[in-house]
Amino acid sequence: MNFLIAAQEPLKALSDAIEHATRPAPSTGQVLIMDACYLIGAVLFILALKWLSNPTTARKGNTAGQIGMLLAVVGTLIGAGIVEIHWIVIGILVGSLIGVPMALLMPMTAVPQRTALSHAFGALAASLVGIAHFYQEPAGHIPPLVMGILCLEVLLGALTFTGSLMAFGKLQEILPTRPMTFSGQNIFNFMILGGAIVSAIVLVMNPEMQWLFLVFTVLAALFGIMLILPIGGADMPTVISLLNAYAGLSASMMGFVLDNKVLIIAGALDGASGLILSIIMCKAMNRSFTNVLFGAFGQVQAAAVAGEQKTVKSAGAEEAAGILSAATSVVIVPGYGMAVAQAQHRVHELYDALTKKGVDVKFAIHPVAGRMPGHMNVLLAEAEIPYDKLVEMEDINSEFPQVDVALVIGANDVTNPAARHDKSSPIYGMPILDVDKARTVMVIKRGMAPGFAGVENELYYLDKTLMLFGDAKGMVGSLVKEIGEAH
Ligand code: NAP
Repeated sequence: MNFLIAAQEPLKALSDAIEHATRPAPSTGQVLIMDACYLIGAVLFILALKWLSNPTTARKGNTAGQIGMLLAVVGTLIGAGIVEIHWIVIGILVGSLIGVPMALLMPMTAVPQRTALSHAFGALAASLVGIAHFYQEPAGHIPPLVMGILCLEVLLGALTFTGSLMAFGKLQEILPTRPMTFSGQNIFNFMILGGAIVSAIVLVMNPEMQWLFLVFTVLAALFGIMLILPIGGADMPTVISLLNAYAGLSASMMGFVLDNKVLIIAGALDGASGLILSIIMCKAMNRSFTNVLFGAFGQVQAAAVAGEQKTVKSAGAEEAAGILSAATSVVIVPGYGMAVAQAQHRVHELYDALTKKGVDVKFAIHPVAGRMPGHMNVLLAEAEIPYDKLVEMEDINSEFPQVDVALVIGANDVTNPAARHDKSSPIYGMPILDVDKARTVMVIKRGMAPGFAGVENELYYLDKTLMLFGDAKGMVGSLVKEIGEAH
């Protein structure tokens, strides 16, 4: 128990520092400016979310969100009567020292892990503020309602902090990406969570038990680690989106504890949007939350039917370029392989080459193509492909029967017709792009390896399908060259 008491000292020092750094004596004018900043900031957050939902307005949405956050910070600096600014300056410097290299050095393909790290920092901040608030109050003086909210803030914050770090480790392959399981794991995990909840209830009734607050925090942080252990690396994007929701809720709880309206609003928006995104991702993969959290999905399954010899037709770049040039309409279906090969700029060149020949080219976007929400939109936008050429799954599917060529570039699961009829398939029920209904299908991939779900794709064995074996960047480059040379 001694270490628990000893560990409280640095926390007390932290809360003392916060107390001395702030002195709440703002004038009426300052409070008015703060409220105005908060109001405009909150409106901008809502507009940002609306604009971010469409590629044509996404940049505007991003800027609106940033201005909203700047207003929230400025409003707080003016209205909270802060007299000693040095702690805040140190915080901004440390944050910038970590954030700027993260933004500049981590590549586009590392966005999922970068997001995991940002959530970890946000959740750490929320839990530290909660912990500081607890130790700042004289022992036993926190009313039960505030104590309950404080516990929720620290529970969600601490588990999101450690959980997001684990997610980062798995995505960056610092930790093993495979699901790590042991017998009785779920019971063990629920015992940790149960321990944290019981501690929180005891604390609400006895807020003077300062040592128990530390036990509670440690249990919450441990639960975050245990929650992520059994989840495979490939399922991390969905988990990160869920952790995003937790971090948002934690920030919202922090807003209640600190009586800060903009925190309540921003946290609630973050929590709700993270949850909605997780639901959209689960639906698009036809998976449930419990299956993602406890399903240990993402391990490659044994080959489906041994013995049965099926053949595929393959073609070279020259033949494929001839077919593409002669087509009236082509739909390009990008997937994870395009992201891995970083082929998006070559794909833009292909779009230009075909458009020049009078071919109508569109891009079919599946909601979970790639490994993170909006993965394909981000890459194609980076390559400056016109937004109006990107068509969502629900809108493009009815067009496939009239399409001359569906060109699949590094996509696999999102085009597998087994999802429509094979009840034994792990992807059964997942909505797919109906590329098999196009007149001709071409698939660029390196070999016959399965995709994320680990299942064979029957699309490759259709009579109308031509396999173009090769790395996406190289093969698309060859197609562009051949189309350019063809007359
Ligand atoms: P996929 O099913 O994972 O297939 C990707 C294909 O790309 C592989 O079959 C691979 O075949 C090929 N490939 C890899 N590197 C390549 C390269 N350099 N050049 C050419 N091809 C390459 O991808 P998807 O169709 O995009 O489907 C996404 C999957 O991820 C879905 O199952 C989805 O449920 C899951 N998921 C998505 C998200 C999300 O938010 N987007 C989150 C979690 C899970 P070869 O090795 O033979 O080349």
